[in-house]
Amino acid sequence: MMRGMLTFAALFVVVLAKETFEGHQVLRIIPKNDIQLSLIKDLEKMIEFELDIWMRVTNIFSPVDVRVPSHTLQSFKSYLENLNIEYATMIENLQAILDEEQEEMDSAARVAQPKHTDSFDYTRYHPINEIYSFQNMLVAENPNLVSKIVIGQSYEGRPLNVLKFSTGGTNHPAIWIDTGIHSREWVTQASGIWFAKKIVKEYGRDPALTAILNNMDIFLEIVTNPDGYYYTHTSNRMWRKTRKPNSGSSCIGVDPNRNWDAGFGGPGASSYPCSETYCGPRAHSESEVKSIVDFVKSHGNIKAFISIHSYSQMLMYPYGYTRTPVKDQAELHQLAQKAITDLASLYGTRYRYGSIINTIYQASGGTIDWTYNQGVKYSYTFELRDTGRYGFLLPANQIVPTAEETWLALMAIMDHTYKNPY
Ligand SMILES: [Zn+2]
Repeated sequence: MMRGMLTFAALFVVVLAKETFEGHQVLRIIPKNDIQLSLIKDLEKMIEFELDIWMRVTNIFSPVDVRVPSHTLQSFKSYLENLNIEYATMIENLQAILDEEQEEMDSAARVAQPKHTDSFDYTRYHPINEIYSFQNMLVAENPNLVSKIVIGQSYEGRPLNVLKFSTGGTNHPAIWIDTGIHSREWVTQASGIWFAKKIVKEYGRDPALTAILNNMDIFLEIVTNPDGYYYTHTSNRMWRKTRKPNSGSSCIGVDPNRNWDAGFGGPGASSYPCSETYCGPRAHSESEVKSIVDFVKSHGNIKAFISIHSYSQMLMYPYGYTRTPVKDQAELHQLAQKAITDLASLYGTRYRYGSIINTIYQASGGTIDWTYNQGVKYSYTFELRDTGRYGFLLPANQIVPTAEETWLALMAIMDHTYKNPY
């Protein structure tokens, strides 16, 4: 009995323990020639270092960021030094930043929960239950503009909530925005919350948004990977993928931005379940992806699809899986330029832009390649702040500025979509 109790207690501790990142560093490596480039590309396969690639390799002179666990740090640094590959330390001790982030959240949690979205704290990161109650409050406060639809369930049974902003009519042409498909990219979900509030504040005030909403619907999925998001709060802040177990492997989850039926399983995706870019056993195997696929198909009138990630400050259009340019390349390129110019006008934040494959790297099975092939011309993906100082751990005091500037780019895309019906 005693022994059984102890085993149970031990199990309990293991289940509840939060992964710590004491002494983990984030290193930035910049390949200076083709030989270094190919060596750095191979790092992804060197599982002995247990690297977590934060920003993947693209080209010579473009940085690669990797999180290195403390126990492989020395051997990894020697490995790089032996190859004469230079590196810089972006984050000295990851846990110190996580502790600060947690402390800010704890102090916010001590304040009574808001009863209205006017008093919601947009300057903080929030656990999933607080985002759910935000959504419910927003719907209750704006019954003629906002409704909540549930497009499916996550693997662990959480609702896949989508806020619908609509002034009526049936099957209006629509704009889709999603944030947080990669769960650790916290500034994206936080920005999604801010966008939702911004839409209800500006409808009837901002003439451009009012015109858009009088003619189109906006769908906003804030927590697109809820199991992953929950997990980043309770167990592992660095979790990116879904939480579905993989048969034949002890590694959990699929990269939901490699799981779409567009060049599925091709270059820039992994078939190894332990990889952070694992594409999954088949296209649309993840319910978080399949639910959007079903929604887009059954809606049939989505005109713009915007999928929001962080980090690295980029605005991109298809394709990621092939070098073949999309047929709307010229228009998408020009609109991207306009959007990032508007974005930069607020705080001077500089973005790069272009097709995925030319701007970031080849990636197969990505969201907007699939939506574009479904006929959604204005398919874009963002990588929000920053460029690597904090990476996925963007301090909460940057949430509102990030959302504000991104909103300007979203408005540019939505306004162009509205004014160029197809
Ligand atoms: Zn991402």
